[in-house]
Order: sequence, then C-alpha cells, then structure tokens
Amino acid sequence: MFELTKSQKEIQKAARDFAKGEFDKEIAYELEITCEFPRKIWKKAAELGFLGIHYPENCSGGGMGLLENVLINEAFCRNDCSLGSALALSTSASECILRFGSEEMKNSWLPRLAEGEVLSGRALTETLRGEDYLNIQTSAEKKGDSWVINGQKRYVDNGGDPDTGFYVVLCRTATVEESPEEGLSLFLVESTRSGLSTEPAGRKLGNNLTATSSLTLKGVEIPAENLIGKEGRGFTHLQDYFNESRIISAARSLGNAAGSYDRMIEYVKGRIQFGKKIAEFQVSQHKIADMATKIELARLITYKAAWAADQKKADDSLSSMAKLTAGRAAVEIGSHTIQLFGGYGFMTEYEVERFYRDAKVIELQDGIKDVQKDIIAKNAIGKIK
Ligand SMILES: Cc1cc2nc3c(=O)[nH]c(=O)nc-3n(C[C@H](O)[C@H](O)[C@H](O)COP(=O)(O)OP(=O)(O)OC[C@H]3O[C@@H](n4cnc5c(N)ncnc54)[C@H](O)[C@@H]3O)c2cc1C
Repeated sequence: MFELTKSQKEIQKAARDFAKGEFDKEIAYELEITCEFPRKIWKKAAELGFLGIHYPENCSGGGMGLLENVLINEAFCRNDCSLGSALALSTSASECILRFGSEEMKNSWLPRLAEGEVLSGRALTETLRGEDYLNIQTSAEKKGDSWVINGQKRYVDNGGDPDTGFYVVLCRTATVEESPEEGLSLFLVESTRSGLSTEPAGRKLGNNLTATSSLTLKGVEIPAENLIGKEGRGFTHLQDYFNESRIISAARSLGNAAGSYDRMIEYVKGRIQFGKKIAEFQVSQHKIADMATKIELARLITYKAAWAADQKKADDSLSSMAKLTAGRAAVEIGSHTIQLFGGYGFMTEYEVERFYRDAKVIELQDGIKDVQKDIIAKNAIGKIK
C-alpha cells in the first residue's frame, strides 16, 4: 500500500498534466466573480474520462476505484481548488445511484454524468435540520404507483444550474418511533419535475464556481422506480455513501493544502526581509516542517481510507479521520501560508486567499467536524453498558 501501482501513477500524472494545461488562474477568478460553473473545462475533463473514472465501463466509466478518483481530485484541487472542487461536485451524490440504484437508473444517468452532459445534486440538509437527518421533515407519500414529495432542502450544490439533470433527495417515508432510521428513503428527482423549484442560497465565502441553492418540492410526483435502493433504508444507504464521499472531500482538502503549500514554498525562497530570504528564518522553517508533516499525514490516511474501501473493507472511522485530518490541514496550512506571504497573501494575485476560502467550506460539506468525531468516538468506545 505504500506505493501506487503503475496505472495509478499514470492516472495521477494524466490528471496533473490536464490541470496544468487547462486550468487557468485568470479564468478561475473570472468565473468566481460571475459565479459560473467551468463548463468548457468540465466537458474536456469528461472527454478524457476523469469524471466517471470509478463508474463501470458499461456506463461510460473507467472501471476503476475510489483511490484513482482520489488521485484525480487531489491533483485537480492542488492546481486550482475552485476548479477542482467544481469538477468533483459535478457528479454529486451519483455514488448513491452507483451503489444502490437500479440498473435502469445507472444506465440512464451515469453515462450522462461521465460524459459531461448533466450535473447532479444531493438534497439532504434542511433549514431546521443540518445533519440531524433522522428528524428531517421533507416527506414522500406513496400514491398508487407514484411517490409525492413535499418539503424544502437547503444548500444544494448544483441546485438550479441549467445543466443539472437530477437530485438525490432524502425523504421521510414513515414514522418508526422505535427505530427512526427505518423511516427514511432516498429518491432520484429529475430537475424537470413539475412542482420543483430552486432559489440561489446567496453570496458565499468560497466554492463560487458551483451553484448552491435551496430546493422546494411542492407535490412533486415521481414514479415508484425513482426510489433509490430500498424503502426505509435511506439512512443506511446515506451512511455508506458518506463513507465514500468523505474520502473525496478529504482528497479535495489534501489537494487544497498541497496547493497552498506549493505556492508558499516558491514565495518564501524569493522574498527578502531584514537581509534574509523568508525561508531562511528558523521560525519559517519550523512552520514549513509542520505543514509538510500535516500534508503527508493527510495523504497517508486519505489514500489508506480509499484503498480500504476499494478492498471492500470500508471503514467509517477511517473515512471520518481522513476528512477530519485533511480538512483541518487545508484550513491551517491556508492560514499559515497567508501569514508567510504577509500582505501579499491577502491579495488575489497569489491565489492563496482563494485556496483558504475554499478550504473552509470543505470542512462543512459531507459532514461537520463534530459529527466525524462522534463517529470515530462511537467506534472507538463501543457499547457502554
Ligand atoms: C457551500 C455549501 C455547500 C453545501 N452543499 C450541500 C449539498 O450539496 N447538499 C446538502 O444536503 N447540504 C449541503 N451543504 C450543507 C452542509 O452539509 C451543512 O451546512 C452542514 O451539514 C451543517 O449543517 P447546518 O449548516 O444546518 O449547521 P448546524 O447543523 O446548525 O450546525 C452548526 C454548528 O453547530 C454545531 N453542531 C451541530 N451538530 C452538532 C453535533 N451533533 N455535535 C456537536 N456540535 C454540533 C457545530 O459546531 C456545527 O458546525 C452545503 C453547505 C455549504 C455552506
């Protein structure tokens, strides 16, 4: 496990080369100002097979695993976290279809996501319920051969984007007092369904190349076959999905941390203050040593979590530890990087301010820190008699 395979190294190099050739700082800032999705880069990334690398080959995918997907997301976000995150989120929640969806669902949506024809969104959070999913209010009621959905979701990535094809929506399908998790189910809701509307969430600190909106569902009728996986298993499916998506979040944070670090190393070797290069102050060197160590630890745990999932040994503690470690590394390294740049770091010229802003939001998506710690502690302690 301490060395990537030849094919993984080739994928990593291809992703780095693609980002080097196609990502552009000016484009990223322009798109950030207009809050636009990087459509041209998305299409090119899809053409080269980066988006569906982990989908099966018969769904236009690369037939590879989570580790390959991690390598791509790390490389993209290291070059430019805003562009890399927009590409990572373009297939948001599609793993719910990949893991639990019907063959028909997979065949009709995964190829279109891999080929850069549509975007997807996940609609889990509600105004009154952040990650307290067991108490969500959005409901789905069975009516003959259909389900009728009512409710409102908040902060849905790709929400309202003209290219978004569908949302994965978490709904209450029953009230089961003794085991509330059995009352939840996941549904695929096409963006064209009557009764569905979106409203932009407002201006954001970071992640501005991806639309974030609220999603209102008023009597939205969908056929029975739009149920993802099993009725009453939505919460369990979601936990399995998070085991995977948290590793991708970790990869984005890892890339972000390494991207800030790369820029910082180049800068401190050039700038002279008090007759010395900033890199020559021992206090800078110790800071750099800490940053390098944090990146290495984040990389090791993220790769290990992805590798374990690929061996069918997915471990929710490892996924949460990876997300926690890499997320924290990106925010801390972003802050230290700006400090080492001084006032220049606060300006857009060197990009590190954008990396810092983008780092913060990854700590919120796919699960807040406290929830990751709850998962790790619960597994560590086991049952308390
Ligand atoms: C830019 C952006 C994009 C997003 N994209 C999506 C998306 O695509 N789909 C989606 O469904 N959601 C999305 N989210 C929502 C995100 O997942 C939530 O913001 C996050 O889960 C926290 O929920 P909340 O905002 O309601 O905060 P709250 O749940 O109110 O939590 C606020 C704070 O309270 C504390 N807290 C809460 N719960 C606990 C606990 N159990 N233990 C200890 N402390 C706790 C923590 O300090 C926490 O940070 C997005 C959010 C943002 C900002």
